[in-house]
Formats: sequence, structure tokens, C-alpha cells
Amino acid sequence: MIEASCHCGAVRFSVETAPEQVNDCNCSICRRYGTLWGYYRPSDVGFSAENGPTDIYMWGDKSLEFHRCRACGCVTHWSPTNRERQKMGINARLLPAEVLAAIPVTHGDGASR
Ligand SMILES: [Zn+2]
Repeated sequence: MIEASCHCGAVRFSVETAPEQVNDCNCSICRRYGTLWGYYRPSDVGFSAENGPTDIYMWGDKSLEFHRCRACGCVTHWSPTNRERQKMGINARLLPAEVLAAIPVTHGDGASR
């Protein structure tokens, strides 16, 4: 089990295994956030019941909710607004540093999609 946390610790989640790769996406929102996305099925990401609230940002077709900690501002994850969709993204920068350091980074071309 790998635990991830925002800077202040108000938002925590865990995953069974580290992502095989993380995506440094160049789309308009990701390049500004500086996130590295690891992709999971929503059922494979465990959010702590004690988590503090997140603020949500949506843009464009509003198909994704980008969540950030309301206290420290770290982007924690995105979730599809369509709950049937079985894909979400966690910000792998919240993983322990030694875990993240071992994961290959891919450079997704979200900007041209
Ligand atoms: Zn926080």
C-alpha cells in the first residue's frame, strides 16, 4: 500500500501499487499545474474518510473535476464527472519522493487533442 498526501496532510489517498508510468501532460491545464498523472480505476484509489474538503475546477466540456486541497492548494486528483467512466488521475507528485523517483515519466501530448 502506497500512501499519498497533500502538503498539509488534509487530503490523503492510497493505492495498492505505484503507477507503471506517470504522464507529464502538456495540455493547457496540466502544464500550469505541473502535475504528473498516474491513472487508476476509481475503485483502486482509497480516499481517507477523515479527508478535508477539496475545491474543484472544471473547464471546457466540464467532463473532469480537478480537485485541490482547500487548505494548502495542492492538486490532488481528477475525477470524471460521469461516474460511469472507469478512469481517474492521481497527482503522482503527492506520492512519497522515493516512490515517484523510480517511476518513468511519459510526455503526453494533451495539447494537440
Ligand atoms: Zn493540504
